[in-house]
Amino acid sequence: MRPFRTAEIIAVGSELLTPFRADTNSLVLTTRLNDLGIIVAGKAIVGDDVEMLAALVRLALARVDLVVTTGGLGPTEDDVTREAVARALTLAMHEDLALVRAIEARFARRGLAMPASNRRQAMVPEGASVLVNPAGTAPGLWIDAGEQAVILLPGPPREMRAILDGDLRPRLSARSEGHRVERRVISTTGRPESAVDEVVAPIYGPWRAGPMPIATTILAANGQIELHLSATSDGTGAARKRLDAAVGTLAGALGDIVFSVDGQPLEAVVGRGLRARGWRIAAAESCTGGGLLSRLTDIPGSSAYVIGGVVAYDNTVKVADLGVPASTLETHGAVSEPVALAMAEGVRVRLSADVGVAITGIAGPDGGSAEKPVGTVVIAIAVIGRAPAVRTYLFLGDRAMIRTQSVVAALDLVRRALSSANS
Ligand code: ATP
Repeated sequence: MRPFRTAEIIAVGSELLTPFRADTNSLVLTTRLNDLGIIVAGKAIVGDDVEMLAALVRLALARVDLVVTTGGLGPTEDDVTREAVARALTLAMHEDLALVRAIEARFARRGLAMPASNRRQAMVPEGASVLVNPAGTAPGLWIDAGEQAVILLPGPPREMRAILDGDLRPRLSARSEGHRVERRVISTTGRPESAVDEVVAPIYGPWRAGPMPIATTILAANGQIELHLSATSDGTGAARKRLDAAVGTLAGALGDIVFSVDGQPLEAVVGRGLRARGWRIAAAESCTGGGLLSRLTDIPGSSAYVIGGVVAYDNTVKVADLGVPASTLETHGAVSEPVALAMAEGVRVRLSADVGVAITGIAGPDGGSAEKPVGTVVIAIAVIGRAPAVRTYLFLGDRAMIRTQSVVAALDLVRRALSSANS
């Protein structure tokens, strides 16, 4: 059988055509297929309409090697994928008794009798082979169509992924050319996309040509810029070596704005640093309302280095719970460097932490002034035994973006404090 080189994905489900549910399955599928060197040439979203879906499957088979559908494999009338694919390939449907038994057994394990409607899930097109679903009742199906194939996967993302990483993986690898796509991500923060691009574009420009080209993309999101590199492996490890060298060169050129080259998020990098130093952290947050602590505690095991904090939204809390002098608030205003410094030191001392971080700012849309426009955010860090540091930022964007950028900037201040030689 010849290997699959191209694929199309069809996401099935009327809800995916509304603003209430976005199709994420196709993104996961694309990553996995690309990893195997199978190029996703296109994708479609279609409602629970048997004719429309059958037509799309036929169309896709006219132009690619592999068609993958997700969704519409449930037990109800509006789950039409099996029927539609059978029509597209002009295959009869039959009941797979082994599947009936497997679905019955799944219900029996929970002490339930199988509802009659679930028998629908055991109706399969002639010649289909079953892909075991360890996370639900709807099995996946693989149907060969000459040298091509149609793969049907269930809609719930957890179930789709379980099949993708289980039964499907070896079968797909066997039909791929063995050209894995190797990827690397360099994550930076603290400089805008254009500044990062200015540094890296002249370096990686020439890498796009040649015998083993490196593809590059810059992605910007809320205070972080990611540089994605990929190269197609020929199975010798050359792509891996080439990418490792490329990452080394780019990271060297970008310097200390790089916080990870292994895909680790900023909060994980900070957590690792705190753990290594044996430091424990506390936060005083005003405009981020706990967002910094939320990010820090996203990391499993963060109780080893996160003590807690105070959401000091109202000035009375800044005074009563953090010991910020009322006179400082009066003289400088809540969004000011002296107040941020007092909040950081206050939370550090009151919670007996090694590091205290404070964020105070104007997230908007109201509350700005000519002197302190919306987006003005002051972040301070107090480390035991060191002089405290403070910085005023002006972030652009809406309220959510300003809050996210504030959290990222605070995490980055901690990262920099951790990596500075002064201990
Ligand atoms: P079930 O047996 O649960 O009915 P199914 O294969 O019929 O499985 P659907 O009914 O189409 O799947 O979808 C089940 C759930 O998965 C729904 O909550 C749906 O919104 C979600 N879902 C379906 N397709 C996608 C997709 N492409 N991306 C993200 N979520 C999806």
